[in-house]
Amino acid sequence: MRILIIFVSLMLIYSCQSNSGNNNIAIVIHGGAGTILKENMTPELESAYLEKLEEAISTGYQILQEGGSSQLAVEETIKIMENSPLFNAGVGAVLTNDETVSLDASFMEGANLNAGAIAGSKYIKNPISAAISVMNDSPHVLLSSKGADEFAIKIGLDTMPNSYFITERRLNSVRRAKENDKLTYVDPFINDYKYGTVGCVAIDKNGNISSGTSTGGTTNKKWGRIGDAPIIGAGTYANNDCCGISATGWGEHFIRNVVAYDIAAQIMYDDKSITEASKKSLEKVMKTGGDGGVIGLDKNGNVSMEFNTAGMYRAFIGNDGELTVKIYSN
Ligand code: ASP
Repeated sequence: MRILIIFVSLMLIYSCQSNSGNNNIAIVIHGGAGTILKENMTPELESAYLEKLEEAISTGYQILQEGGSSQLAVEETIKIMENSPLFNAGVGAVLTNDETVSLDASFMEGANLNAGAIAGSKYIKNPISAAISVMNDSPHVLLSSKGADEFAIKIGLDTMPNSYFITERRLNSVRRAKENDKLTYVDPFINDYKYGTVGCVAIDKNGNISSGTSTGGTTNKKWGRIGDAPIIGAGTYANNDCCGISATGWGEHFIRNVVAYDIAAQIMYDDKSITEASKKSLEKVMKTGGDGGVIGLDKNGNVSMEFNTAGMYRAFIGNDGELTVKIYSN
């Protein structure tokens, strides 16, 4: 009897400890916003997206549940999406005008405002890991093109030939865009065209917020075009005092409106909720003629997943451990 009482007491203490440690963890992801309409989806493709989003977010959430850092949760979650041809990041990214893949990514840590990013990489298998390494292993914030690839090789990150990233679907898209001489951010020739960047924001048991974003940019991009995804403050921002943000959409407009930081500033200086602030920043994006979406978590783990396109691949697990996965608007 005594042994049983001791055992039950120990179990109670253990469960109280693990619950109190996990109270504030939360994670939110996007897999790109755009013209994503149910009528253009096959049931198979829809299930493939839902399953991959669930796999990615569950991986990150498990890391947080086990007491891991938000940095690790964001990295591992984004790697799953980069390794899937469904999204415009890593393998399956959109193609440039010269029919190569050129990858951008960024990462920011809310505890100390550390950040790292790469742009225009042709070979880095997981750009999000390279962005984190720029933050941790270099004195810089943003490395580009050949230099980014050289850095990744030097520190031993996995690289792949550019052909590894290229899928037939994206090759067809860029060829059709080129035939029509369209220098465009959307591909008008595929029904489910969308932006497809991936992003993740997480808050760990210590209240540390991390944000990351990874993309191939826009179809048929030329002249070394770089979008918002690797720009800290535009596509990605994190600050433990307010929130973490990751964006997707027409990058030029997200840069011009400094969207990720604009949301943070409204929360810090104007006391707005993360949803109000996200809506307001997206209104500004629309005013300059752009569109897209943002995901974010505030310091209390409140989530926002706002967009002004037809859909946005997205998922969220909050303080209560409930999973939400969505594609279309509501
Ligand atoms: N924002 C990205 C860019 O402009 C595109 C995307 O969200 O898919 O490069």
